[in-house]
Amino acid sequence: MTVLRFKRILLKLSGEVLMGENGLAIDPAVTARVAGEIADVKAQGYELCVVVGGGNIFRGLAAAAKGFERATADHMGMLATVMNALAVQNALEQIGVSTRVQSAISMDKICEPVIRRRAERHLEKGRVVIFAAGVGEPYFTTDSGAALRAAEMKCDALFKGTSVDGVYDADPKVVPGATRYNTVSYDTVLAKNLKVMDASAIALCRDNNIPIVVFNIREHGNFAAVLAGEGVSTTVQKEQ
Ligand code: UDP
Repeated sequence: MTVLRFKRILLKLSGEVLMGENGLAIDPAVTARVAGEIADVKAQGYELCVVVGGGNIFRGLAAAAKGFERATADHMGMLATVMNALAVQNALEQIGVSTRVQSAISMDKICEPVIRRRAERHLEKGRVVIFAAGVGEPYFTTDSGAALRAAEMKCDALFKGTSVDGVYDADPKVVPGATRYNTVSYDTVLAKNLKVMDASAIALCRDNNIPIVVFNIREHGNFAAVLAGEGVSTTVQKEQ
């Protein structure tokens, strides 16, 4: 029997990983592929919590810059994360993975509210728990939601599935020759303002000693490979 590196993990999915080339905010084929990556990892015996973003549909900060009132815009952003959570739930259940969605904003016709002990029981029963609506308050992001759920659910690591393969010392799209870190400390990320997650999420992970693994979830087999300690990724952790 293979010994797993971690027992319980939290996967943060940026909303953009559900987008397709065709401009669809939630592309069913792309969402199905992401669900497939999650199902493969689940089948290996990991306990899985998932936090989904909403940036593919609506980002509060961007809307506020265009004149929206910030709190209203953030409420809309949180609703976007619920749509994504349902899309991921649907895709997972279609391939036989049992799930529950818990939202930080109560929507009792659609999903459960966030109840930690109940989420715990779902994990014991082998369900994937998908957390929606971030922390449930404006002026936050789903990165903070991911760090919070990782801490309260006592996850061994936070895996951030995006469409880039790790953390670079500069923006690789702008700076040719930017290099990817294999590991980097929380404090370096904060001091250099590296684009990993927002500062409050990094600080919460640091204070609870939760490693953050940034990887590309769009590459087939990469999530499982990175979990096995292979594949391409960056781990943000305490200074060694
Ligand atoms: N949001 C919020 N509070 C939260 C989580 C999210 O107000 O606790 C809003 C915020 O407007 C954010 C949007 O929801 O821009 C979508 O989430 P996020 O930008 O984190 O999504 P991602 O970048 O991961 O796709």
